[in-house]
Amino acid sequence: MHYDETIKLQRHFFYTNETRSIDFRIDQLKKLKSILHLCETFLYEAIYTDFKKSEFDTYSTELSFIYREIDEAIHHLPEWSGHQRAKTNIINLPGRSYIIPEPLGVCLIIGAWNYPYLLSLLPLVSAMAAGNTIILKPSEIPSSTSALIAEMINVNFDPGYLFAVEGGAMETTELLNQKFDKIFFTGSTAVGKIVYQAAAKNLTPVTLELGGKSPAIITKDSNLKDSAKRIVWSKFLNAGQTCISPDYILIDVSVKEKFLIHLRDYIQKFDYSFENKNYVQIINDRNFQRLVGLLDKTKVYFGGESDAETRYIAPTILTGVSFDDPIMTEEIFGPLLPVIVYSDLDDVIHSINSRPKPLACYIFTNDHEIRDKLLSEISFGGGAVNDTMMQISNHHLPFGGTGDSGMGSYHGKAGFATFSHFKSIVDKPFWFEPKIKYPPYGTTKLAWIKWLMKL
Ligand code: NAD
Repeated sequence: MHYDETIKLQRHFFYTNETRSIDFRIDQLKKLKSILHLCETFLYEAIYTDFKKSEFDTYSTELSFIYREIDEAIHHLPEWSGHQRAKTNIINLPGRSYIIPEPLGVCLIIGAWNYPYLLSLLPLVSAMAAGNTIILKPSEIPSSTSALIAEMINVNFDPGYLFAVEGGAMETTELLNQKFDKIFFTGSTAVGKIVYQAAAKNLTPVTLELGGKSPAIITKDSNLKDSAKRIVWSKFLNAGQTCISPDYILIDVSVKEKFLIHLRDYIQKFDYSFENKNYVQIINDRNFQRLVGLLDKTKVYFGGESDAETRYIAPTILTGVSFDDPIMTEEIFGPLLPVIVYSDLDDVIHSINSRPKPLACYIFTNDHEIRDKLLSEISFGGGAVNDTMMQISNHHLPFGGTGDSGMGSYHGKAGFATFSHFKSIVDKPFWFEPKIKYPPYGTTKLAWIKWLMKL
């Protein structure tokens, strides 16, 4: 398929300036919301077909976020898109200064598979709110959700404004050969590098939402039972196939045994199974085999069972793990939870900082000094203190990685900014003209300039 025609159409439509109208943007966002409402049953069916994700999980971790993002954008668009006043320094008086947010143009959004609606439609909402035209490429791996997203968009929107492309690496590569005004990518660090290189050829700005190994650190003074409960919930939600789920645990050696018992108890209590719809399948055979390969049976403390036919892997805790184990060399992205002990917090900081920067980090402690030390000395995308993953649920917080876990951020106002350019303007009247600016220059003017430029 050749995408240049669609991109040409979109560029042409963008320069009609219709997407710059706030009313147009609000109408399109409302339309998207009503399509999602109308299709909700199909959305639940498609994702269940793909990997047995339940209605509860789909609503609470995907659709509710998208609806709120749309509402938030509609509510704040007049404020976000208006001219923003800035202070004017003395050498520019009596002028005024302001910033004009403007859309970037034709944007490409590439989604990942693990939250297929959220990761395609949330950036889409931001791009629409900012007044762009968009080509959306959802992940091909959950094929039913990909087909449904494409159908919902291509049946209801003009391709010159919004178009969804179905496909995998081949189609994405072809898209990346085109010139876009913005590329927003969610996925692995490896593919993120490919996207970044392709974008560099056209100096296209990118946002990369990538992955990594996100640690949870448990200090000896923390509330072990509640920490275990919160970690079990986040690690086994979506069967661990969540970019910000805790990848592994670092625990003070003196409380390890107690903590393991709490972890085990909560896994049993939450009763993870397909039957009661609180557990999902591993997305495909390739990932199932990869995870089984990482599961060292000699280190299983709890769980460890798997079934290839249903792509089931039980919530599993691994102990006696060190940073040299294969499971610590890649993002796990599945329901395997290695527990590593430490006796010196500085070793923890060094271990994390000497590896690629994680997308998230979770700190469980009641000691404020330790909390502040860890928060200031470890670099990571975002995180939580005494909780896991809930940072993503606060739309007032920008969401994004750093270093190997990504660049840029989105959600709420940050998403609007990601798909906008902020044009800085100094606006002057003609009635005042400072002579000092113009030649001929001399020592008096220099003295004045030295003073004025400090103000
Ligand atoms: P992936 O990198 O394999 O695929 C992401 C997208 O890139 C898909 O749309 C896919 O079709 C496309 N793609 C795959 N190979 C390509 C290639 N060679 N050239 C061009 N395009 C290609 O990632 P995934 O398996 O879909 O998702 C899992 C990864 O995404 C994990 O690392 C996870 O941590 C990360 N992730 C990050 C976030 C975040 O918000 N930071 C969210 C979800 C997932």
